[in-house]
Amino acid sequence: MLTREWLRGVGKAMVHMVYPEKESCQLCGKPIRFPTEKLGTLLCESCQSDIHWIGEHVCKVCGREENDKSLCGDCGYRSERHFVFSRSATHYNEGMKQLLYRYKYQGDRKVGKLLGAVLYQGWKKYYDLPKSISKHPIHLLTFVPMHEERLFERSFNQSKELAEELSEKTGIPMADLLIRVKATDKQSKQGREERLRALRGAFRYKPGLEVATSVTTESIGILLVDDIYTTGATLNEAARVIRRGLPNAKVYGLTVSR
Ligand SMILES: [Zn+2]
Ligand SMILES: [Zn+2]
Repeated sequence: MLTREWLRGVGKAMVHMVYPEKESCQLCGKPIRFPTEKLGTLLCESCQSDIHWIGEHVCKVCGREENDKSLCGDCGYRSERHFVFSRSATHYNEGMKQLLYRYKYQGDRKVGKLLGAVLYQGWKKYYDLPKSISKHPIHLLTFVPMHEERLFERSFNQSKELAEELSEKTGIPMADLLIRVKATDKQSKQGREERLRALRGAFRYKPGLEVATSVTTESIGILLVDDIYTTGATLNEAARVIRRGLPNAKVYGLTVSR
């Protein structure tokens, strides 16, 4: 009996030597057999199937996946646009909704790390070109600030964390450019018009960019990072306020989902 158990133990040890301990899925904990191109060994195949990447053809302004149009209906009707364009990595489906909920409201940091990796894929797809050849070079990353009251409730700002992680991965500095002076209601319950009204006057420009970057503020490319793009109202209002402080800035958006 002892011999058989001993043999089993030796067998296991040998298997481990030949096939070292596999990485496990950040969401369900199952071992990962094959790393994938986009997320490596962060997610197993089954959890990864919940993530729907946005395809090649997108609205040139908001990054919505479109089949044939270069400008979607929403962007065609937008009266004032203060940002150049926005892109998102994935579709906001049920799987992504749950992931964002776990991260934002339950404070699950593992999910945050995963969403940072998803965002980075969006960066690589849409923004990652050498500055010398890019028509839209990005010199600085920034984020959507949270009002103090909300920050107190949630303890962290997901937009800031995502921007920090992107800054680490890309080496592009991050700066705190905005102050949230008005706590807006949970946006998901509001319609487009209400959202716009609630956002008016929500931000104030926070001077001090000189400290954060050596890049000249002449036509500086600034990327605003956020978790979700819904109507573009937040990005538009943030871009408007950033450009009050930095009139020559070109503001872009990048979100995990839309
Ligand atoms: Zn999994
Ligand atoms: Zn659009």
